[in-house]
Amino acid sequence: MADYTSQVQIVGGGLAGLSLAAALGTAGIKTLLIDLEPESYDTPFEEAKDNRTTALIQNSINLLKACGAWDGCEDYATALTVMRIVNLPRGQQKHSNSTDFDSREIENSPFGFNVPNSVLRRVLCTRLNNLPEVTHLTSTKMEKMAQTSEGYQLTLSNDKSSIAALTIGADGKNSACRKTAGIKSMSWSYPQTAITCYIEHSKSHQNVSTETHYPAGPFTLVPMMGKRSSIVWVEETRLAKKYLALGDDEFSEELINKIKGRLGSVKLFGKRGGFPISAMLSDHFYSPNLALIAEAAHALPPIAAQGLNLSLRDVAVLAELLIDQNKADKALNDIELLKEYDRARRFDVVSRLAAADGLNRFASNDSAILHKVRDIGLSAVRNFSPLRHLMMKSGMTSPLGTPSLMSGKEIERNQ
Ligand SMILES: Cc1cc2nc3c(=O)[nH]c(=O)nc-3n(C[C@H](O)[C@H](O)[C@H](O)COP(=O)(O)OP(=O)(O)OC[C@H]3O[C@@H](n4cnc5c(N)ncnc54)[C@H](O)[C@@H]3O)c2cc1C
Repeated sequence: MADYTSQVQIVGGGLAGLSLAAALGTAGIKTLLIDLEPESYDTPFEEAKDNRTTALIQNSINLLKACGAWDGCEDYATALTVMRIVNLPRGQQKHSNSTDFDSREIENSPFGFNVPNSVLRRVLCTRLNNLPEVTHLTSTKMEKMAQTSEGYQLTLSNDKSSIAALTIGADGKNSACRKTAGIKSMSWSYPQTAITCYIEHSKSHQNVSTETHYPAGPFTLVPMMGKRSSIVWVEETRLAKKYLALGDDEFSEELINKIKGRLGSVKLFGKRGGFPISAMLSDHFYSPNLALIAEAAHALPPIAAQGLNLSLRDVAVLAELLIDQNKADKALNDIELLKEYDRARRFDVVSRLAAADGLNRFASNDSAILHKVRDIGLSAVRNFSPLRHLMMKSGMTSPLGTPSLMSGKEIERNQ
């Protein structure tokens, strides 16, 4: 007999695992979430362990609203109205080539909103506390998992055990759930590391996110509340290590060189982070009694703000299948349901992964020919509005349509 018995147990309390727990709990499905991280409610966002922000597209925000986890984010959310791509001059060229993708050309609303990850975590944790069907175990590790006739039995670091018919692996790139279930995957790394930090600046960002293409990778300024921005600076790993080891003054100097005066005078605040860049795709997103979501199933290089938005589509699709199945009083570990989840997600995931991989290699290459091709491509997009509109729309939607929990559908509680 296990200490915790639930309908669904989720391993991993990253933003994807937390969101799925909120969706299932909102529907009244008994859910256990095993979360290695502490709650850290009181830490200001700039001091949090995860110093990244996420550019959430509107569909992802709709999902968070359906889960009751958007209200507390609003005060920290900054509209992203324009995406500016800059191809820097190579060698002796005088002018950089920049193209604006302006959301107002296709919609009345912005592309999305930028929110600190730690704020999103805090809001999701608060929501889980208010959902009676969710047990959220923080600072707890899943140590071992064993298949039984009733689903996986998990051994936890709090000396307790848990069992559920369906286990969800939301435990990140090195997923123990994926490995224990024997699901194969392919992964590869890039010689790049993403440096992340926050800045305050004297000029307004005017809700413009600017991605500048340097030979080692994109350098992206993402607007935050007030005159602040978050930075994702993709750099050659050897240099990233060197920059991350510098004192604040020297690091700021390097940063200011990259920003090229766009935001006036600049001051660093909060923590810095370094994220080695890699990609991964698992052969299946399920096995008997198990489904994989988010980075446990697939990981992309952090280019064009895709990763978590893609993962939240896993959450929306799987949550909807499980909620309908629960309403119909059918088993949540039904293998046909898990296969349907895999089928529904594979094309979106593979096409986004291929695009992010291609874009990262294309954008991080100093060859004269590729530089010219980038210039020509950007000019074509700038001068031909239908192409620009098509690119903007494809970044905001899935090729297979939008899951209904991302289109404004509410989650009904099962009585
Ligand atoms: C620099 C950078 C910028 C990014 N910017 C964006 C952006 O703007 N927009 C966007 O959509 N995406 C962005 N992404 C991608 C996004 O951050 C990731 O897709 C997302 O954080 C992955 O979430 P996850 O929940 O799948 O994995 P993780 O955040 O890795 O969560 C997995 C969790 O599982 C836990 N865990 C692991 N093993 C166990 C265990 N045995 N027991 C219990 N818990 C366990 C881990 O501690 C962790 O908390 C960015 C990524 C990077 C690196």
